[in-house]
Amino acid sequence: MSIEIRNIVKTFGDFKALNDLSLNVASGELIALLGPSGCGKTSLLRVIAGLETPDSGQILFHGEDTTDRHVRERQVGFVFQHYALFRHMTVFENVAFGLRVRPKSTRPSDAEIKRKVHELLNLVQLDWLADRYPAQLSGGQRQRIALARALAVEPKVLLLDEPFGALDTKVRKELRRWLRRLHDEINVTSVFVTHDQEEALEVADRVVVMNQGQIEQIGTPSQVYDTPASPFVYQFLGDVNLFHSRVHEGWAKVGSAQFAAEPGEHATVYVRPHEIDLSRIASLHAIEGTITHIRLLGATVRLEVEVADHEVVEVELTRERQLEGAWQVAETVYLVPREVKISTAV
Ligand code: ATP
Repeated sequence: MSIEIRNIVKTFGDFKALNDLSLNVASGELIALLGPSGCGKTSLLRVIAGLETPDSGQILFHGEDTTDRHVRERQVGFVFQHYALFRHMTVFENVAFGLRVRPKSTRPSDAEIKRKVHELLNLVQLDWLADRYPAQLSGGQRQRIALARALAVEPKVLLLDEPFGALDTKVRKELRRWLRRLHDEINVTSVFVTHDQEEALEVADRVVVMNQGQIEQIGTPSQVYDTPASPFVYQFLGDVNLFHSRVHEGWAKVGSAQFAAEPGEHATVYVRPHEIDLSRIASLHAIEGTITHIRLLGATVRLEVEVADHEVVEVELTRERQLEGAWQVAETVYLVPREVKISTAV
C-alpha cells in the first residue's frame, strides 16, 4: 500500500516538530527516516500511524485520506526500540495475541492461529523458541519476535522506530541485514526510523534525511551519500572535515592549499577523512600539516594532522597505505583531497 504524506504540520505548544512536510512512499518500499535527535522522525511515524493528529495536512493510504481514521482502522504494524512483549505469555502466545483479540466474526480458528503463528516464527527464524518466555530471550531475539507479532495481523504498513537501537553493534548489524532480506520476501510498505546513517544506507530503498521538522533530501542510499543536496546532509552522512574560508579571485584557501570556488565571499570546504591522500611533496592543492596522532581503528588507521591556525584534519587510511607510506607522528605531510565539496555564500 502506498503512503502519501501531504504538507503535515505538527506543533507541540509553540514548537513545530513537523514543518509542512510532504513525502510519498511507494507500495512495497522500505524508507528510512534519518536525522539527528529531535528532528521529528518519531513524530512523523506517529502521525502516519494515527497515534498523533497533525495540526494540518493529510495522510493518504493507497490514495485514500486516512487523516481522521483511528489507529486501529489503519492496519499498521509497529515495532519500537523497547517493545514490551507480554512477559507472562510465551513467544507463541505473544505472536498469536493480535489474532486472538479480533472480533469474533474475523477471528481465525485455533488451528488456523497455530498454523499462522508457526509460519511467522519460521519467517523470523525463531520457531524453536515458541514455548519460551520473553525473559528467556536475547535482545535481538525479542525484537524479531516483536516483528513477528507486528506482522501477525497482516499490516498494510509496517512502522519501525529504532527497532535495533538498544542492541549492541554486532547484533544490530546482523539484524538489519536480516530485516532487509525479510522485507524482500514479504514486501510490506515499511518506514524505518533511525539516527544511524550506516543503518539507513544499508537497509533502505530510499533514505529521507530530516532536519528540524523538514526534509533535507530524499534519495537512494548512493544518491544521498554521493551527491548530498546540502552541507547538512554531507555532514550527517559520514565523518567530514570542515573549513571556513574566504573566496579570493575564484579560489577558496585552506591552509597552504587552494580550491576553485563558485563566486561568493565565504566558502565552506568539506573533505571526508577517507578521501584524502598523503604526500611528502608540496603542491597547489595540498594542505601542509604535521601529524599529531595515529590510531588504529581495525581495517583502517586514523591520523590527526594539524594544519594552519592549529586546525586539526582527520585522515583515514587503509592499513596498507599506512604501511606503504610509513607515516610517523611529528612529520610534515601534504594532504591531497581526492574529493572536495565547497559551498559558497555571499
Ligand atoms: P529522537 O531520535 O531523539 O527520538 P526524533 O527525531 O524522533 O528524535 P521526535 O521524537 O519526533 O524527534 O521529536 C521532535 C521534537 O518534538 C522534539 O524536540 C521533541 O522534544 C518534541 N516533542 C515530541 N513529542 C512531544 C510531546 N508529546 N510534547 C512536547 N514536545 C514533543
